[in-house]
Amino acid sequence: LESCAANDAPCHMSAEQLTSFLVEIFERAGAASHTARILARTCALAEQDGAKSHGLYRVPAYIATLGTDWVDGAAAPEVVTSKGATVVIDARNGFAQCALQVARPLIEERARVYGVATLLVRRSHHFGALWLDVEPFARQGFVALTAVNSISHMAPHSGSTPLYGTNPLAFACPRSGHDPIVFDQASSLMAKGDLQLAALHGEQVPLGTGVDKHGKLTQDPHAILAGGALLPFGGHKGSSIAMMIEILAAGLTGGAFSWEIDRSEYPDAHTSRAGQFLLCIDPSHSAGPGFTGRIESLVQALHDSGQQRLPGDRRYAIRKQAATQGIAVSPQAMLDLIQAL
Ligand code: NDP
Repeated sequence: LESCAANDAPCHMSAEQLTSFLVEIFERAGAASHTARILARTCALAEQDGAKSHGLYRVPAYIATLGTDWVDGAAAPEVVTSKGATVVIDARNGFAQCALQVARPLIEERARVYGVATLLVRRSHHFGALWLDVEPFARQGFVALTAVNSISHMAPHSGSTPLYGTNPLAFACPRSGHDPIVFDQASSLMAKGDLQLAALHGEQVPLGTGVDKHGKLTQDPHAILAGGALLPFGGHKGSSIAMMIEILAAGLTGGAFSWEIDRSEYPDAHTSRAGQFLLCIDPSHSAGPGFTGRIESLVQALHDSGQQRLPGDRRYAIRKQAATQGIAVSPQAMLDLIQAL
């Protein structure tokens, strides 16, 4: 690391190597080994897929949060209800990805039996990219949809003060002989992590991204971050999606709504203490064996209509490159993480 840093050259690492490095970082930051492993993998896979705002960049905020009592880095998720197609998990103030790991086999089993299974997670912290939660379901043949609410950073349509989280929604659908179709998007025009990166790099953001503390549209990311608010994508349409996510991820789960999350006594904490909703569908129950063929005809129609790039394609291409060349990581960023502990 030090020799790479001295030569100002990136280190090339496999996802496994980066995960191992981060496991140690998260364990030293106070996470139990099962949590450290999940967080490390989450950040390493985001970095591998080129999702910079949710890769290594996120780690200092995780470390700072783990240093507070805001989140429990050793929490063991509890299955509250597991009846029929409904699984309810109390994450017990731990990370949502740990709850999903417990729930995944249950959800897959229920979806195979009933054709559909719903996961409702409460008291959970989600600070990562959401596609990681659904892509594995699609690789097992399921259609999956998930949503999390998060801390108030976004105004509703025609509002100017933060109410909703940037509430992301991710969807995954299996394909025959191809990587699944996966989209994963915030309800805000720009994810908060990307806004922070723009601020860090001294870049302006597109008009419509957010307002300053006076409710005035601004292209200055610092002004949005300093008491302003992000805005939904697509005006009232994105705003309604964010509202739906509050209902699914907080209303149905018994988790907190975004505006109810009060971190005022934890200034170093960055994660949300909210909820997650996940729906998993086994297409064989309704669509039968012809489902993936139908999806191929949809993809063909998209191509014929002029859309060549599907959501997920960019990430898969970056992932493929990382598999042969390794993930290019800034050695200085890694040394900074070691020194931050
Ligand atoms: P983007 O706007 O970067 O991308 C949204 C989706 O659109 C992706 O699936 C992307 O596919 C696809 N896409 C982008 N451009 C095109 C195109 N030209 N044609 C077809 N598809 C396209 O995502 P966001 O900035 O909204 O979100 C970034 C991340 O932030 C997400 O991973 C999200 O989960 C995360 N997030 C997490 C939160 C949390 O609380 N945990 C809160 C808010 C956001 P591709 O990946 O291939 O580019």
